[in-house]
Amino acid sequence: MYKYEFDEETGGILLTDTEALMSKEPRPIYAEEMNILGFNSRWHYENQNAVPYLWAEAGNYFYHGKKIAVVKGGSLYEKPQLEFVEEDGLPQGETLLPVDLKKMSEKNFELMENLRQETIKRIYRYWKSHQKRLDCFHVAFSGGKDSVVLLDLVKHALPKSSFIVVFGDTHMEFPDTYKIVDVVEKQCAAEGIGFYRAASKFLPEESWKLFGAPSSVLRWCCSVHKAAPQTLKIREILGKPDFVGADFIGVRAQESFKRSEYDIENVGQKQRGQYSHNSILEWGSAEVWLYIFMHGLPINDCYKKGNSRAGCLLCPMSSGRAVFFRNNAYPNELKKFIGYIAENVTDEDIDSYISNGGWVNRKNGRDLKSPLTNYSEEVKDDYFYITVTNPKTDWQEWIKTIGEPTFRYEIQTDSENKIVTAKVKADYCGTTELKNFKSVFHKAATCIGCGVCESNCSHGAISFNDGLHIDKKKCVHCLQCHDIDSGCLLFNSTKLSIGGGGKLNDKKLNTFSDHAPKTEWLKDFFANPNSFLKKNTLGSMQNVQFKRFLFDAELVDRKDKMSTEFTELVKKIGWNTATAWGLILVNLVYNNPQIRWYVENLPINEGKDRAVVEEKLQAIEVSVKDSKSIVKAFKRLCETPLGTELNFGTTTSDGRNLATLKRTNAKVEDGRVILYSLYKFAEATDGWYQLNLTRLMSDSDSAGVSPSKIFGIDREGMQQFLNGLSANYPEFLNATFTHDLEKISLIAEKTSQDVLNLFNR
Ligand code: SF4
Ligand code: SF4
Repeated sequence: MYKYEFDEETGGILLTDTEALMSKEPRPIYAEEMNILGFNSRWHYENQNAVPYLWAEAGNYFYHGKKIAVVKGGSLYEKPQLEFVEEDGLPQGETLLPVDLKKMSEKNFELMENLRQETIKRIYRYWKSHQKRLDCFHVAFSGGKDSVVLLDLVKHALPKSSFIVVFGDTHMEFPDTYKIVDVVEKQCAAEGIGFYRAASKFLPEESWKLFGAPSSVLRWCCSVHKAAPQTLKIREILGKPDFVGADFIGVRAQESFKRSEYDIENVGQKQRGQYSHNSILEWGSAEVWLYIFMHGLPINDCYKKGNSRAGCLLCPMSSGRAVFFRNNAYPNELKKFIGYIAENVTDEDIDSYISNGGWVNRKNGRDLKSPLTNYSEEVKDDYFYITVTNPKTDWQEWIKTIGEPTFRYEIQTDSENKIVTAKVKADYCGTTELKNFKSVFHKAATCIGCGVCESNCSHGAISFNDGLHIDKKKCVHCLQCHDIDSGCLLFNSTKLSIGGGGKLNDKKLNTFSDHAPKTEWLKDFFANPNSFLKKNTLGSMQNVQFKRFLFDAELVDRKDKMSTEFTELVKKIGWNTATAWGLILVNLVYNNPQIRWYVENLPINEGKDRAVVEEKLQAIEVSVKDSKSIVKAFKRLCETPLGTELNFGTTTSDGRNLATLKRTNAKVEDGRVILYSLYKFAEATDGWYQLNLTRLMSDSDSAGVSPSKIFGIDREGMQQFLNGLSANYPEFLNATFTHDLEKISLIAEKTSQDVLNLFNR
């Protein structure tokens, strides 16, 4: 990717021969977008959309190298605000000239031609070296600008009969995308290139009803409507369920913080067992647009209407401004999708549910009119029970996929096979084996054959032709069909809080009674943990409550009552440092209801009157006595390094009495503390390894608590931490922040323990 500058002479962009690490994603701006935003109130220009007038980088608009306006805000129902640059800007009343595309192309010809040749050669070499061992090559075509360029390059690199083009039709695309797909399909037909459309058997109006609308953490749509249909389509074309193929994908790394971590050639990154070639990974959007203009490729009209991406009509990952432009361009289509949300949620004020991001932040089936109700779990008398009522598919088929568990289990069914109960010794709770066993019943409870498990199985063992059938001879128990959130996307998207994973029991909040830990106790403990546990000078109740604190902080093992590896780590870091207490606080949040209550109920930097806090506790049926203990314990905790080093909170006194309590922004000195809390979050929420910043900044009402909440970090601060972690620990986290996309990916194979191990390196 080359650096570029805005060219005063042509009004276009000009590549320089210097390599760039990051790009600001320039995009051409046409009259249609300018009219929407109000440029026509200030300058004159012909109302044509064949040639652009301006360029934009995020919210900044440039004319012949000069920044002339900035756009801010914007949401579904609110137009972004346009502010003109007054000083050194462009005088009002000028007539704007379109970009001189011919001259711009000439000036960039040499660099672009080198890039084109290099990319074509790379595609050819890849095909040549993989040709014999792979069953098929296909271009994943989306109708967006990158895939238009990619397809043109592949066409120039490979024989026409050596690859096919597959358009993944989500049935949620912009109307303009379908127009360009029609154009490209015709071109391919004329050139003898196989062009296929792959779509789910479910239309969005059905799937949105069954799954509930997608949200930032429930993105079942990408699998159900995009990835799975493409895999199943290629299987159908090849007649080979276990095909191994390579797809050419038009992803570009320029938006990511650490490009070097991406691979042009990879196996299994997009789909397990399949090859991918990210042919234009190193291109910037400047090069993509130049290529389109230089080679006269078709342009999706959506870009002329203010959309910086061609994607789904209503996507929970889009910024407010992006949603505004989509709604402005395709109001009737957007209305349909808003209607699907309205039909299926209990919230009656649908406008505010949409505009306040309620739908984007949906985390489970709680908001849905038809949440999951036919599955439950409980632990009783040392046994773990799963009950499924009216299962949608046969558990006896799904259980073939996990092989024979090492534990014994009992199954009971009623005479009509409508209620299935599985019973397992509770000792297996928390084991991977029981997780997979549960996944069998999740699938049995909800599976509608959405195609995802079938496409995940590269052995062709799953079929839904005449009801669910798992072919025992083909199944190798690879568990790929279980490598899905909760084992089933439908289950995951509609489940309610099950068993002990959700809210804490408020009646047990008073965990320290009147004996919250003191600094001197902690000092003695860390001086010699195991001998302290055997013998110390604490009174009996102090001992009991302090041990409770040590258990919950994971400094003492509950079973053998000995100090843990974590204790050693804390000692190594320095037991009275902010970093050590950052880690301890995370453990306490997940293990101790009292600490969690403070975190979830005391706002940051807002002193709360003692009596108000006590009342708040009493309102959730905490006794008066316990409410007073909980308030007093906060003061004691703030006097330990949790308060003095980590800055957890402060209190004020009124004479001898406690007057106010305040949580404060914690002093997080080491990003690994945030990384640890992110993995704890993912583990507590049953595997939310794909997050976004909006989700992290929202209040927690699930089993996980966001690091921003635990440490009182604002959006900007979180973004800084995430960028730093992405750069320093790419094997743990990848964060991408662009103008309408914000994605945080944790690596599912890593654990919070792996993060702790980083401190021992
Ligand atoms: S994905 Fe693996 S476990 Fe599942 S059916 Fe196929 S072979 Fe069996
Ligand atoms: S079990 Fe698999 S195929 Fe069935 S609905 Fe769930 S994700 Fe889809």
